[in-house]
Amino acid sequence: MDWIGGELELALNKDDCPICTMLDEVEERFFFWFCLEGIGDGRTRDALLSRGETFCRPHAKRLIEAVGKTGRRFSAALMTQEMIAHAARDLPSDGGGKVPKGAFQSRRAEGGCAACRSMDESEANFVGIFAHYLSDPHFSELYGQSFGLCLEHRAMAASAARSGRTKKLIAQAEREKMRQLYDELEEYVASIRAAAGAASGEFEGAESDAWKRALMKLSIRGSGHLKG
Ligand SMILES: [Zn+2]
Ligand SMILES: [Zn+2]
Repeated sequence: MDWIGGELELALNKDDCPICTMLDEVEERFFFWFCLEGIGDGRTRDALLSRGETFCRPHAKRLIEAVGKTGRRFSAALMTQEMIAHAARDLPSDGGGKVPKGAFQSRRAEGGCAACRSMDESEANFVGIFAHYLSDPHFSELYGQSFGLCLEHRAMAASAARSGRTKKLIAQAEREKMRQLYDELEEYVASIRAAAGAASGEFEGAESDAWKRALMKLSIRGSGHLKG
C-alpha cells in the first residue's frame, strides 16, 4: 500500500468522510506553502497569472487570514498588483464604437481558483486510490466500519470504481450508514418527545451529535454541485 493508501486508512478512523478529511489537510498545506514560498516566488506568481487564476471567495478570505498570520503583506501586495493589472486588461478599451460582445468576460474568472485547482487534482487522485483499495479485503472492512463517504465522494468513488462489485460494495456500505444514522436520529427524536410529553415543537434534549454527523455526511464541497 502506498502512502496515500496508508493516509486513507488513518482517515477511515475519523468520524468524517475520509476524502474530505484528507482534502482539509491539502487545503491547510496549500495555504501554509503558498504563504511560506509561493507568494514570494516570481515564477509561482507568473504561473498563476498565465493560467488566468484567481481565488474563490472562501479561499480569498482564507488567504487574507494566512497572509495576516505569516506577515507576507509585501508579497501579497505584489501578487495582487500583478493580478489587478491583468484583470484591468480584460476590460474593453476606451475607444469609440460599440462595446464588443463578451468584452467583460474575465480570464481571471475563467481560470478559476488556484487553491481549488490544487485541491481538485488531489481529490481526483484520492478518490481513484480509494476506489482501487476497495478491492483489498482489509481496506474494505475498515470502510464498512467507518463513517463512510459524503454525498459527493460516494458519487465520485462509484464513478471511479472499475468493477460492478466495487460499485455494489459502496452502495451497500452507504445504505447501511444511512440506515444507522436514520435510526439514531429517530431514536433521539423519540426520546426527546417522550421526555417532553408532546408530539411536536422544539425541545431541549440530551446531547447527541447524530444530527451533526448527518449534516457532515450530506455536505458538499465548495461550489455546490456534485461531481461524479
Ligand atoms: Zn467527502
Ligand atoms: Zn477556491
